Amino acid sequence: MNEILIKGARVIDPANHLDEISDILIKDGHFAPLSEVSDKVQMINADGLIAVPGLVDLHVHLRDPGQTYKEDIISGCRSAAAGGVTSLLAMPNTIPAVDTPETVRYILDKAKNADAHVYVVGAITKDLKSEQPTDIDALKQAGISALSDDGKPVENTCFMVEAMKKAAKLNIPVTAHCEDPYLAGGKVNEGEISEILGVKGMPAAAEDAGTARELSLAQAYHVPIHICHVSTATSYVMIKDAKKQGVQVTAETGPHYLMLTQDELLKRDADYRMNPPLRTEYDRQAMIQGLLDGTIDAIATDHAPHSPEDKSDFVNAPNGAIGMETSFAASYTVLVKTGLMTVAQLIEKMAVNPAHILHIDAGTLSCGKPADIMLFDPSEEWTVDPEKLHGKSKNTPFKGLTLTSKVKLTICGGKIVYNEL
Ligand SMILES: [Zn+2]
Repeated sequence: MNEILIKGARVIDPANHLDEISDILIKDGHFAPLSEVSDKVQMINADGLIAVPGLVDLHVHLRDPGQTYKEDIISGCRSAAAGGVTSLLAMPNTIPAVDTPETVRYILDKAKNADAHVYVVGAITKDLKSEQPTDIDALKQAGISALSDDGKPVENTCFMVEAMKKAAKLNIPVTAHCEDPYLAGGKVNEGEISEILGVKGMPAAAEDAGTARELSLAQAYHVPIHICHVSTATSYVMIKDAKKQGVQVTAETGPHYLMLTQDELLKRDADYRMNPPLRTEYDRQAMIQGLLDGTIDAIATDHAPHSPEDKSDFVNAPNGAIGMETSFAASYTVLVKTGLMTVAQLIEKMAVNPAHILHIDAGTLSCGKPADIMLFDPSEEWTVDPEKLHGKSKNTPFKGLTLTSKVKLTICGGKIVYNEL
């Protein structure tokens, strides 16, 4: 069987408190002791590179079924591989939504041939309409790994409570898109920039009201909740307080909230429009603080592909930006290059913690574990050129930016899925 020896990398594996120059053996899809190396091994010279566990992205829209002109399961996973992501959680706002066992099976079946491990989120309500709950047991039997109506909040609070209770019993997370739907619906962050642009704003309070509701439910019913794409300083403070009080809450933010602010919107380019929107510098600093103090557990991309046609009109374009191919480099540039975090701490946010939240066997290089690994060059600088990215859509808000650190090799389940060595 397939055998790979990675030679001379600096190996950083926070789960094992490991940071040393070492070789890594991969055999039959798993990490293996170096003593088992045979003469049939494929050697990879990794001098000067850092080897870390493959990244786990808790928030990805693969657009399949239904909108495969934007992205599909295969192209989305190719994009993941190029970004060092070996496991991803696929959100249910497809067409149809992931609200039946058939759709769950369709995704899992197609993903067997993909370049990343795909975990499926089942919808909490039929067609994400918050009118009728889904059959969560049937979805679980079909293979879902989490529950959410992401793209939208679960408007009916009773359905949310039932889903959280059920998920706790099934030991899967509920990942919450926090938003008051009546207050939201704007185009950019409400405030100075929305006024300059003359477009309807999305107030921070729309997100904060949603965050407050989900935290209250988790506290009242003693069940876990995972808060998606945190973008406001107020939500950060609420989550921090809830954690102090023992509420079972985990949270993610996205690389774009760490690197960019609402000022980008002055370009009147829809690639900078997402939901939640880019906020203020104060909010951006709060996201960084949240990662540093442990309030925010994970960095997830909210990879949301849209075609150039879809994104052509600044005001009417759908929300969302792609992110998997830039997430590591953008996060590294903001957090590690500046000395705020070590590589090991960044890998906790991008692999170890997300794997725990999702209860999956990933985020470590331990012998016997599935061989999901990423090698990167910590000193390479590169400028993001949308045309060179590997997914179908090119709507990146990082275009033209120079980032530090470049993914060089990704191995998923023992198979080389990305290689620029
Ligand atoms: Zn969302």
